[in-house]
Amino acid sequence: MRQHHRKSSKYIELNTHLCQACWKCVEICSDQVLGKVEVLWHRHARIINADACRGCKKCVGVCENGAIVYKSVSQD
Ligand code: SF4
Ligand code: SF4
Repeated sequence: MRQHHRKSSKYIELNTHLCQACWKCVEICSDQVLGKVEVLWHRHARIINADACRGCKKCVGVCENGAIVYKSVSQD
């Protein structure tokens, strides 16, 4: 399985290795950019709809594990 999930939107970057699967970011994002990966030992947030992200930073603020960072320079 070589295909990787997209780990960033235009505004944020998600580090799945730091994610503790608390789902706070998933709940706080009213634009449904973030979703869950939940398969046995494989649990972490993921970006399911990158194009919907409007850079409000709510997910960045809510993540206590530093798994989501705001991009200082947007890159596609
Ligand atoms: S920056 Fe805002 S819109 Fe983008 S994923 Fe985070 S909470 Fe959702
Ligand atoms: S808030 Fe952070 S630790 Fe919690 S699910 Fe989102 S990325 Fe993972």
